[in-house]
Amino acid sequence: MISERLKSVIRDIPDFPKPGIIFKDVTPIFKDAQLCTEVIEAFVEQLKGTKVDVVAGIESRGFLFGLMLANKLGVPFIPVRKPGKLPFTIVKKSYELEYGSASIEIHTDAFEPGSHVLIHDDLLATGGTAQAAAHLVTELGGVVAGFAFVIGLDFLNGRKSLDTFSENIVSLTS
Ligand code: IMP
Repeated sequence: MISERLKSVIRDIPDFPKPGIIFKDVTPIFKDAQLCTEVIEAFVEQLKGTKVDVVAGIESRGFLFGLMLANKLGVPFIPVRKPGKLPFTIVKKSYELEYGSASIEIHTDAFEPGSHVLIHDDLLATGGTAQAAAHLVTELGGVVAGFAFVIGLDFLNGRKSLDTFSENIVSLTS
């Protein structure tokens, strides 16, 4: 089963990037080409029946499977980036972190208004990042088709901050 296969390779790194945080390291997934294929197949299976016109991947780990998934679905991929990285005109959304705040940006011509945009990232924690991405999608006239994560950390209740945009929240493991 994909969830168990993922669990067996994802590493818990204590005290990274700060003391007290246990960081889920997804990099070993990318060393296993067969597992990467299975991840994409699992996303496609779980998204059956979902209309997806565009996949939006969140910097930076959301770029990895985001592009693969978009390619598999035969739709465009668009990057959601940290401030100052996108060269064309952008819209920006700031959001609160546990300590401080962060912002993400998207190109104003990333997709056509009315497009159904699937938001992808490697991991759902509090949901603040994906929620900010959803705000940007709606600000540009898009429809949030759903959210797709490799890992969903259920204990942080991230789904709560996303379900007003879409209840279609897929995660492959916890
Ligand atoms: P949230 O905004 O609290 O849901 O945090 C999710 C964002 O932080 C995503 O962009 C993740 O890539 C990143 N993140 C938070 N914790 C981890 C982790 O343990 N491993 C990998 N990424 C993480």
